[in-house]
Formats: sequence, structure tokens, C-alpha cells
Amino acid sequence: MELIDTHAHLEDVKDLAEAIRRAGEAGVKAIITMGSDSESNAWALSESSDYQTENVRIYPALGIHPWSIRESKIEKDVEFIERNIHKAVAVGEIGLDYWYRGLSRNPQKKELQRTLFRRLLKIAKENGKPVSIHSRGAWMDCVEITAEMNVKKAVFHWFSGPEEALRKILENGYYISATPAAEYSKWQRAAIRSTPLENIILETDSPVSYRGEPAEPMHILRSLSAVAELKSESERRVAEKTTENARRIFGI
Ligand SMILES: [Zn+2]
Repeated sequence: MELIDTHAHLEDVKDLAEAIRRAGEAGVKAIITMGSDSESNAWALSESSDYQTENVRIYPALGIHPWSIRESKIEKDVEFIERNIHKAVAVGEIGLDYWYRGLSRNPQKKELQRTLFRRLLKIAKENGKPVSIHSRGAWMDCVEITAEMNVKKAVFHWFSGPEEALRKILENGYYISATPAAEYSKWQRAAIRSTPLENIILETDSPVSYRGEPAEPMHILRSLSAVAELKSESERRVAEKTTENARRIFGI
């Protein structure tokens, strides 16, 4: 079985070398490590490859997470991404989060998120790169802006939003990704049930904790078994299909 962890934050994973070794044993062939801010973008580009093994390739993505927006640093961070995006497989993690620290009550900060999101989508579009999108509490805006910017390949990472936003995602030929939360999260489970396997990929968002346990890339096996259960398919079939999807989206 070959698996690809399409969304992780490897710079924050404990005992990374050991975690990568365990991932290799679990069948993980590749991991895409997301950039969230200037430090993690630099790490993804120049240090993440030190942790590659014979079995596990590591690919960088470059982005600015909506939680990491610092107004004074935006120009520098965007320039860095523009200059280096040809060395990355995707633009991510980017997106909008209207639930972050009472943001829904701050229209200015919301607009700042949207402006930056558009700029980063433009970089993806101009460079033919896919995007990995964080859309918590801002599902419809995320889909509409991505479609309006004419981005062709977009993954709505850990999608747990409402049915109408999911419908738009699928109408546009976009993807959602499943994390280990697919074992128990009502919204993520509903989204996976309503999405054809052709539009699903797997990830861990490591080192996020799921029910108290910090994730590492081998926990993609949990995402896999949850999706297999929800789709009434064999794990083998889900692994084949989602890995094929991931290879096509990210060109790896
Ligand atoms: Zn993430």
C-alpha cells in the first residue's frame, strides 16, 4: 500500500527522524510539509529534505496561515513565496478563519485575510500550483474566492463545513482532505460521505492532536481506515485512489 500525507507541519513534529521512519514502515511514500509563516517556509524549503529517507520523500509547500498574519511582515513573506514558489509543490497553508480569536466581530481583520488570500491564490494560479486551503468558519467565502480567482487545483483541507459549500467545491472540481478526525467528527464525516472518492485525499495535519493524541504522519492510517469505513470500500481501494489523486494534484 502506498500513502501520501498531503498536509503536515513537520517542523513541529517531535522526534521527526523517528516519526518519518515509522511513517515509511506504515507505507507512507511522500509527505507534503506546509509553510505557515516565514520560519516554517524557510524550514520547508531548506531543511525538510534532510529528513527524507530512502522510502519517504518530503516536499515543501509555501504559505501564510490565517493565524500567522502579521501586518508588518506581509510584504516580505509574500515576496519570499513569489521568489521561491518554483521550488515548492503547492501554495499552502493559506485561507481564511473567521472563528479565530473573535475575528467575526472584526471586519477589518477579515478583509485583511481576504486580501492576502487573493494575493496568494494569484501566485498559485500564475505558477500553475495547487493550493491547500484552511477554511474554518469561512467555508463559502473560501470556495467562492478560489473559484473567482480561477485557481484550477484546490484542496479544502480537513473540510468540515456545510453541505452548500461542499457542493460548490465539487462543482468546481476541487478536493477535500480527510484527517484522523474522520473517525469521530460529525461534520468531517458528513463531508466525506457526500464526496466521491475521486475528490478525496488523505492527510494528518501533524502534529495536531486528535482526541488527545498528537498526530504524526503514520497516523494517516487512521484517516485511511475512517474513509474506508465511511465509503464502504476496502482500505486498499481507498489507498490506491487517494494516492492517485494526490499524485495528480501535486504532480509528485
Ligand atoms: Zn495545517
